Amino acid sequence: MEFVSLNDGNKMPVLGFGVFQVDPKETQRCVEDAISVGYRSIDTAKAYFNEESVGAAIKTALAGGLKREELFITTKLWISDAGEERALKAFDASMKKLGLDYLDLYLIHQPYGDIYGAWRAMSRLKKEGRIRSIGVSNFYADRIVDLCENSGVIPAVNQLECHPFYQREALKRTLEDYGIAFESWASFAEGKNDIFKNAVLSSIGEKYGKSSAQVILRWLIQRGIVVIPKSVKIERMKQNFDIFDFALAPDDMAAIAALDTDKTLFFDHADPERVKWIIHAFDK
Ligand code: NAP
Repeated sequence: MEFVSLNDGNKMPVLGFGVFQVDPKETQRCVEDAISVGYRSIDTAKAYFNEESVGAAIKTALAGGLKREELFITTKLWISDAGEERALKAFDASMKKLGLDYLDLYLIHQPYGDIYGAWRAMSRLKKEGRIRSIGVSNFYADRIVDLCENSGVIPAVNQLECHPFYQREALKRTLEDYGIAFESWASFAEGKNDIFKNAVLSSIGEKYGKSSAQVILRWLIQRGIVVIPKSVKIERMKQNFDIFDFALAPDDMAAIAALDTDKTLFFDHADPERVKWIIHAFDK
């Protein structure tokens, strides 16, 4: 496995396994499969409702002889838990579900609510050694600059939508200015726009004897971006893991760069109606 060095001195695997939209009933099996394939970094969130099943898979892996320090576990703080006291409680609840005594990476899932209070709580938990690294997700350039300039604690990671149709090059440069690692969610655009059959990606794949999925992950890693592809199928988990024996040539990197549409395929954080919707997504 290759690693990226984080700005707090820790290391993070460049390839992990994501469990968004994995049924809680299937999550334990999926994470156990992923660990058997070789994945050591697992990305979940309170809002995925499967932390407990991730915890059960971690327990099995540890009982089978894997060392805790070999794993890199990420979970995320939801909007309703933003705020200093709430974040402390939410962290404890996530840790209980995961069955862990320390967490590798805790992310603010969305840039809404009292994120400054949450950030103070997370900074404290990091100082106390209960979290190794703290970061954010879905923070665009304005929010990142605000948090960095006003909190005095620079996030280690920003996890963002990033795939061949939405490449985030300008935001990537802002993150580089602060030494923040860029982690991609929906690296495959969740299959949208027929991405796996895209002519450019398929023909590049043919050259290297790789699938479009492998080309996408390789392209992201060569841009210095951490990837966490999701699959419930072990054969695809294996395929997505098998990306360290080839390198894309500069002209292939350029051909993929030309696929950028600079538009989200999922969620525009500048759209007031969408923002209102997500803030209240889990209201009773
Ligand atoms: P994704 O990884 O872009 O795509 C997953 C889809 O691709 C699934 O439909 C999967 O189907 C399919 N797939 C996987 N490998 C494949 C392969 N080799 N060939 C063909 N199809 C393949 O989508 P994602 O799950 O949204 O993103 C990845 C992770 O990012 C999530 O699981 C989550 O951990 C994180 N995430 C974070 C946020 C955030 O707001 N921070 C938002 C979304 C996601 P099967 O499962 O049927 O194989």
